[in-house]
Amino acid sequence: MALYRTRAVVIGRRALGESDRLMEFYTRDFGKVRGVAKAARRPRSRFLAALEPLTLGVLVFFDTGRSELVRVDHFDILHPFVRVREHLERLGRGAWTVECLARLSADRDPNAALFGLLVRSLRALEAGICPARVAICFGVRAVDLLGHRPRIDRCVECGRAYPFQDAALDVEAGGLVCVPCGPRAHAIPLTGAAVGTLGRLRGFRWEEALRLPLSAPLDAELTLVLEGIVARLIGQVPRSMRFLSQTRRPLPPVLS
Ligand SMILES: [Zn+2]
Repeated sequence: MALYRTRAVVIGRRALGESDRLMEFYTRDFGKVRGVAKAARRPRSRFLAALEPLTLGVLVFFDTGRSELVRVDHFDILHPFVRVREHLERLGRGAWTVECLARLSADRDPNAALFGLLVRSLRALEAGICPARVAICFGVRAVDLLGHRPRIDRCVECGRAYPFQDAALDVEAGGLVCVPCGPRAHAIPLTGAAVGTLGRLRGFRWEEALRLPLSAPLDAELTLVLEGIVARLIGQVPRSMRFLSQTRRPLPPVLS
């Protein structure tokens, strides 16, 4: 039985049996790793609060080689990202980033760049950068790193070069499509400004992308576009999106 050690972020967990937890980590050296943390739900568990979602730590696990699930030996906290977990909008965006990785990456498919992107995004959320912007910048890069980069320079059906009127993004087809190539109920309509900004965000360094001045409508459109791309790649609306839409629900009017 082999023992491994790697940096990891907790991207999911659920109760297992009477006192265990089924854990999901995104690790720097092994990609997504799922495993069992024995007795983690007991009051005096040696894991204590270490297994909270979004926590960055050093994961030590045993791999018997006989199961997809590893045995979590311990998880030492490097950074708990408490300020992300204590703030609804940051938590919602953080939950979306980890759900992207949980749902779109395969087990044991290492991608150090994706791990670095996740940690940078959590740090940006904690630093107080606008959570929606962090999610846009994460989404643009994560989709690329996961191998789903959509083409935005031409219609993927007929090859006609962009710009053209009424472009829409067909995630299944792999990029922009033009109107003559047919109406598609599932395609995401995109303004010219959104197409241009997506291209710029891809080319920018991380810090530049986080600070690129954008109008509120464009920020909102890019959020919807990235959320739409991820939902289509997953095949359903992510759980974190339902949480986010609840936090966005308007407050009841104050009675005068
Ligand atoms: Zn076309």
